[in-house]
Amino acid sequence: KLHNQIQEAKGKIRVFCRCRPLSDDEASAGHTTIVDFSAAKDGDIGILTGSSMKKIFKFDRVYTPKDDQVSVFADASPVVTSVLDGYNVCIFAYGQTGTGKTFTMEGTGQNRGVNYRTLEQLFKLIEERKEISTFSISVSVLEVYNEQIRDLLATEPASKRLGIRQGFHHVPGIVEAKVENIKEVWNVLQAGNNARAIGSNNVNEHSSRSHCMLCILVKAKNLITGECTKSKLWLVDLAGSERLAKTEVQGDRLKEAQNINRSLSALGDVISALANKSSHIPYRNSKLTHLLQDSLGGDSKTLMFVQISPSEQDLGETLSSLNFASRVR
Ligand code: ADP
Ligand code: MG
Repeated sequence: KLHNQIQEAKGKIRVFCRCRPLSDDEASAGHTTIVDFSAAKDGDIGILTGSSMKKIFKFDRVYTPKDDQVSVFADASPVVTSVLDGYNVCIFAYGQTGTGKTFTMEGTGQNRGVNYRTLEQLFKLIEERKEISTFSISVSVLEVYNEQIRDLLATEPASKRLGIRQGFHHVPGIVEAKVENIKEVWNVLQAGNNARAIGSNNVNEHSSRSHCMLCILVKAKNLITGECTKSKLWLVDLAGSERLAKTEVQGDRLKEAQNINRSLSALGDVISALANKSSHIPYRNSKLTHLLQDSLGGDSKTLMFVQISPSEQDLGETLSSLNFASRVR
């Protein structure tokens, strides 16, 4: 029985591993690929750690560099549907900077990612279910940087620090933009993105050191039974998981790195405590886990993308990301 319980708990966290293509720069520098996808269909990924050594990791899905945004979203889409059935859901991307976290979550103009496709699917389902239920959707966009929450939809610079409380509206004072259709969502996402850039001289660098979090609040009313439900969907592009080079470890950069490290390990601790059915789940150890508290554990559904690079140059970080992901699975 205990074994079954553990299996069930683990079953709630799905881990998908996605490897980006070797970049042109890497290819022209002669870097080779260390990833073996021969058993990718079974969820196995092999990492060549030495001349004839290979370490195998097992996941719920493994995507090769050839798998596109459509096939990746196809596997995520069932958990998106469950948000409209009243479940809290959390989808996040973990990995070293440059491995495709933003590509998976945000995507590009031609290759839209999980965030856009999720909202597109929500509105499609809402339309299909309109005879049975009415839904109201609002969106918040926030960033956690150095353990501080920043509201990316706020029109004025925040005068006070944003805190966290339990419940459906978890960050008092944060903007919750009501959206009626996918076009409005797109505008909100753009506004959030633009706000991210303000106050940082290098947007890409800044975004790799902060957690970018999209929260979708869903209120549903069943027109037949009158029953109302509230659920929450988090879409999170985590800060880069790479460790600092020793030469960089000083000043502000050190503080940033410690905060990232602390929050990513807090996330790992929470998920493994859940998987092990621990009596104490340490949600309060970081802003990230505290925010996600009602969407990690309980009956909520969690999906993690662990993103990796195929290049031999990144072997150390790749192993460390895959170890992290194996620990939470
Ligand atoms: P991260 O957010 O993890 O730092 P990015 O999403 O910015 O990484 O990806 C780094 C680069 O690799 C970008 O130019 C991105 O377009 C490209 N890239 C990442 N994943 C893929 C993929 N699966 N297919 C094609 N290009 C990708
Ligand atoms: Mg990124």
